[in-house]
Order: sequence, then C-alpha cells, then structure tokens
Amino acid sequence: MDYIQRALTGDGAIRAIAAVTTDMTDKARKIHGLSKTATAALGRTLTAAAMMGCCLKGERDSITVQIDGGGPIGKVVCISDSEANVKGYVSNPEAEVPPKNGKLDVGSLVGHDGFLGIIRDFGLKEPYVGKVKLQTGEIGDDIAAYFAQSEQIPSIVALGVLVNRDLSVKAAGGLIVQVMPNAEERHIAALEKMVSEMPAMTKIISEGATPEDIIGYALSPFDSYTMKRFETAYKCDCSEERIEKALISLGKKELSDIIEKEGKAELKCHFCNKKYNVSADRLRELLEEA
Ligand SMILES: [Zn+2]
Repeated sequence: MDYIQRALTGDGAIRAIAAVTTDMTDKARKIHGLSKTATAALGRTLTAAAMMGCCLKGERDSITVQIDGGGPIGKVVCISDSEANVKGYVSNPEAEVPPKNGKLDVGSLVGHDGFLGIIRDFGLKEPYVGKVKLQTGEIGDDIAAYFAQSEQIPSIVALGVLVNRDLSVKAAGGLIVQVMPNAEERHIAALEKMVSEMPAMTKIISEGATPEDIIGYALSPFDSYTMKRFETAYKCDCSEERIEKALISLGKKELSDIIEKEGKAELKCHFCNKKYNVSADRLRELLEEA
C-alpha cells in the first residue's frame, strides 16, 4: 500500500518528503491504458502532486500540477487534495517514444518546450498560480526549478517509475528534500554529498525500501528528525452533481446548443473515465438554473 512520510530535522533546517506510489501509478496505468513511458510520466507527476498535497495546510486546499512541454504525450495534469488523494490524466495516453540509453525517455515524451504550472487552491476567490519554463521535461528537475524560482526554496526532487515487461508497474516513488531559510552552509554541503551518493529511487524501491528507509538515506547526515505519515491513493471524486455543475458553467447558449443538436449529453470524467449520461429533460432543468 502506498504512503508518504514527511520529515523535519530537529533544528528545522531541512524538510524531506518520501513516497512509495507503486499502487497508484499502476491504477493510473490501468484506468488510462498508458504506454510504458506515459506510465512513467504520469506516475512521476502523480507522486510529486501527492508529496506536495501533504504539505498543504488547509483541509480543503488542493494543488494542481500541469505540464505542457509540446511533446507527443500532450498535457499532463495531476491534482492532489490535502490528504494526498490524487488523480490525473494525460492528453495522449498511448503516445510512446523509444528508450534512450536503456531508460524510458520521459523528457522526449513530455517535451521541454513549454511550461510547468502549479496551481494552489486555498478556497479563495483566486488560486495562486506559479509557472516556470520546463528544464528537461523529466519532471523531477522541472519541479525542483519551480520550488527554486517560484517559492525560493532550494530543493532536490527525485522521482522514479520502473515498469515491468508486461507494462505493470514494478516500483514508483519519490523524494523531495528542501532547505529551509534557517539552514546553514554545512547543512547544504551534507545534503549535496548525500544526494551524490544516493542510489536511484526505482532501484531502492524495487528492492523493498519504504518511505522511512528513503528518509533514513536522505537525512542520514543529521542527528534527529521527526516524521509524519500520510496514506496516499489514486482516487477520483467525480459525481453527477459535479458534472451537472460543469454543464451549468458552460452557460445558457452552449447548453441550448447541446439540447438542440445532441438532445442529451454524454460526458466522460477525464480522471477516471466514468461515463455520465444527462437526459434532455435534465438538461432543460439545468438550462433553467444557468
Ligand atoms: Zn472521475
């Protein structure tokens, strides 16, 4: 079962978040029929969204990660709530590119001619939107660039997905290490050394490493730290009510057009592919509400 540990060193200088997300990545693969490299791309983004989700403060806050790099996969969109329930989709789930140096070439599938956007919704009128130019399209580097540029928090972000020959997910997870404003030069030097020696995320997770083990590696240079555990899972919260709200938000003209041309509406949730049928009678009621 997937979960996350969020840790803070005793002196408050370094924050580390580690996740094992093998189950959610495999669930996403099955829902969307993802290619091998698309599984890696969406799995990495879901993992990052979940780790950022469990740093949200308000119960009803949410975070959206949007990547549009101009590559064959199209857009990658993932949303997490403050309990690290995540959902996501990509524009072209079956898109694939050949491996590079024996590794899944996520950077080429996503592309790097575009932007990564993070939308933090705190239930206020306007959500907070941060946007950075993509670095490599490998996602981990791009999230790290977002933290550095948009939030001024130097961060190390490692994300990994390992896919079996039969396309099922063997291992997925990630690590974010962040240097807080009160960190000293020695903290940063110790972290840099740790990162240069740390084995690949997918290697240690496929060998059975837990989030505690990953935190243990990451924070080994530090004397003490505390941890907090978060369960995380792929979960869609769509409902008839939400779909109807979306229809209402289209406005009167669009709705009348649908009633006139289609008679009824057939909608599919982007995140879980569940289908919703809205009858002509119900559409007319929604038109009244619009
Ligand atoms: Zn759904």
